[in-house]
Amino acid sequence: MTSPKDAFPYIPGIRLLHSPGPSNVPKAVLDAMTNQPIDMGDPRVDACIDACEEGLRALLNAPSAEVFMYAANGHGVWEAMIVNLLAPGQKVLIPGTGHFSDSWALMAEAMGAVVLRTPYQEGYPIDLAAVQEALRADTKNEIVAVFAVHTDTASSTTSDVLALRKAMDATKHPALYVVDVVASLGAIPFEMEKWGINAVIGASQKGLMVPPGVGFCAADARAMEVCAANPAPRFYWDWLRRRKGPSYSRFCGTAPQNLLFGMQASFGLIQREGVANVHARHARLAGAVHAAVQSWSEAGNLQFLCRVPEARSVSVTAVLVKPGIDPELIRKTARDKFQILIAGGLGPFAGRVFRIGHLGDLNAAMILGCLSGVEAAMQSLGIEVGERGVRSAVEYLARTTDK
Ligand SMILES: *Cc1c(COP(=O)(O)O)cnc(C)c1O
Repeated sequence: MTSPKDAFPYIPGIRLLHSPGPSNVPKAVLDAMTNQPIDMGDPRVDACIDACEEGLRALLNAPSAEVFMYAANGHGVWEAMIVNLLAPGQKVLIPGTGHFSDSWALMAEAMGAVVLRTPYQEGYPIDLAAVQEALRADTKNEIVAVFAVHTDTASSTTSDVLALRKAMDATKHPALYVVDVVASLGAIPFEMEKWGINAVIGASQKGLMVPPGVGFCAADARAMEVCAANPAPRFYWDWLRRRKGPSYSRFCGTAPQNLLFGMQASFGLIQREGVANVHARHARLAGAVHAAVQSWSEAGNLQFLCRVPEARSVSVTAVLVKPGIDPELIRKTARDKFQILIAGGLGPFAGRVFRIGHLGDLNAAMILGCLSGVEAAMQSLGIEVGERGVRSAVEYLARTTDK
């Protein structure tokens, strides 16, 4: 009998993973994950959880936030955020960013919340004026929270969360401010406390360089008060049941130990590189990808989906192709012929874009490998993108440094 693995041929060398999650996992993280699980009463389990929570607080710049980790993906912690802060019938405002704000909104509606959305315009960040208008219209302060997506991974657009804080403050509305940092944490600076963000959600498999399977929420004192007063029935996700204690109560059951061993190792790497250097490296690698896409776009067959250069994500770049070009074929050719793994379009962008992930454990050579493979895939499909794409990325990297 053949195993499922044998259905695919052996591929010599490495395949370059450039999806915006799951992202490339460092060897040190994979190695840490090969340790045997341990008895859950062993203090090593609690010490590892403490180290991961500490690592998250450090990256979030939130020394006094409470952190709750779950054996879950990003969608799991979206639900955790909804059920801890909102009871059925209560209102939440979700500023439009694209596919990910829509998906979170659908989930909140399914759980009985009344969701107000601001419209989004493809390729643009959050419309601050529309958020202010929605808050000002809520004269009875019924909106409990604003749920904002920092980087919408589908459109590769990053909104300015500090500017949104200021816009909310200007309305004097008391709603909690909650941010989804799944695709941005570890790639760009984030100041949960200084920016007045009451709660965040994130997940392991993007900037945190760990395989999928751990999600987290962080909450400040105000978010914890709203949680404590919230009558929504809940158990597994409940922050109040997961506050400090042995691993079995912090995870409401057995902790996903091996993923946590990996996460602890990942925070060790981030600390060794230095958080500021991690951010600078992401900015530089994104600059190289942007230089290539800019050059490719000059032939007229593709363009940046994000229309605002300052809002282009450092984590992922969505490339919109001209009607008649199949981005899935580009993606398949990159994968099958060049061993470059890129992402496709989500939601309203399905069949219209391909996406190059550039977050996590990557370096300049890997980015050049990815761009070369994507350019070669387009060339082998006869898609005209000019001669200067990879060349522009090389020039960009040659004249810049990480630090
Ligand atoms: C990836 C992502 C999610 C969903 O995470 P899953 O782990 O796939 O459930 C949520 N929000 C953003 C911004 C994301 O990029």
